[in-house]
Amino acid sequence: MNTKQQTDQLVKLVKCESCMKEVPASGAKNAETADYVAHFCGLACFDTWRKQTEKR
Ligand SMILES: [Zn+2]
Repeated sequence: MNTKQQTDQLVKLVKCESCMKEVPASGAKNAETADYVAHFCGLACFDTWRKQTEKR
């Protein structure tokens, strides 16, 4: 019996807006934009994304 897989399924995953890596929702950084909530695996990705968004 593999009980480890059951725990994995309980973890909700979100996609990092910057590097597209899947991260647990509980550990992700969130940023609210005008249209949606963006998720990030860490502050580095959040910073990268914010700079790209500000640059127009
Ligand atoms: Zn990331």
